[in-house]
Amino acid sequence: MKIGLIGLGIMGKPMAKNLMKGGYTDLLVSDLNRDSVAEIVAAGAKAATNREIGESCDLVLTMLPNSPQVEAVMLGEEGVGAYMKPGSTFIDMSSINPVNAKKIAAELAKRGVEMLDSPVSGGEPKAIDGTLSFMVGGKQEVFDKFKPVLATMGASVVRCGDVGAGNTTKLANQIIVACNIQALAEALTLARKAGVDPQLVFEAIRGGLAGSTVMNAKAPMMIAANDKPGFMVDLHIKDLNNALDCAHTVGVPLPMTAEVMEVLQWLHNREGGRKDHSAMIQYYEHLTGIELGR
Ligand code: NAD
Repeated sequence: MKIGLIGLGIMGKPMAKNLMKGGYTDLLVSDLNRDSVAEIVAAGAKAATNREIGESCDLVLTMLPNSPQVEAVMLGEEGVGAYMKPGSTFIDMSSINPVNAKKIAAELAKRGVEMLDSPVSGGEPKAIDGTLSFMVGGKQEVFDKFKPVLATMGASVVRCGDVGAGNTTKLANQIIVACNIQALAEALTLARKAGVDPQLVFEAIRGGLAGSTVMNAKAPMMIAANDKPGFMVDLHIKDLNNALDCAHTVGVPLPMTAEVMEVLQWLHNREGGRKDHSAMIQYYEHLTGIELGR
């Protein structure tokens, strides 16, 4: 199977390497960043233009920042979609607005091209060791055919429904993670201000009902005053914007998401856009005048 992958950033580069490790060695790649392309070509892929990818590949993958980039690459002037063969397939692995994912799928369907939307969770470490979680939307038979390809990059590949369902699931994931981080920051600030060591609070409650993957990953970072990403504030703002936009389109209010968005926006405005999202603790430190870090 000839595969094209467009978007070789933090996530796309290790995913390209895992595709080849998994046996999909006939791989064409493209990115605006020439250094990233050179790195993946050195690992065994071939550099190609978007047109060459569209014309020659059975499967086109994208791992781009957001909806506008995916739309431009697939449907824009000289977009890949215009060159794809009927019967070929497009899988977008970026985290985008599900409304846009459905729009792209509808346009490609006019050309006889199938689409899955298949965002991931797990971040760079899991992209490197090939243990990402894929949340997939699209037809069952298309999912069944391409699940083995995604499985070279992930430990979990779950179909959540029709096209758009993958990104809707990812938005649910991002809402839960953001609200958990804010709750954790608020609770640890209270503990410190009331005179209880946040590290001991973490140790005492992590095994109970409040314990979570988010708590295990982010409490140590908050306590150590470590805001190195991880997952950047600006990427989370992008995801929550998509969540709010999608929610308003389908008529759902998201009051908690709207509030945590303002905290992230505060960080962004203070040049914290590239910090880890656990830097939400800095908002509470600013409000209370305490420092959580030991
Ligand atoms: P990134 O910014 O590191 O990579 C994006 C890549 O796309 C860059 O190399 C950029 O040059 C390229 N690009 C942009 N526009 C392009 C175009 N028109 N043509 C060709 N290439 C283009 O981002 P990332 O961290 O790899 O994230 C990619 C997607 O995965 C995002 O939607 C993100 O939300 C999602 N995601 C990221 C993480 C994470 O921890 N980084 C985790 C889960 C999901």
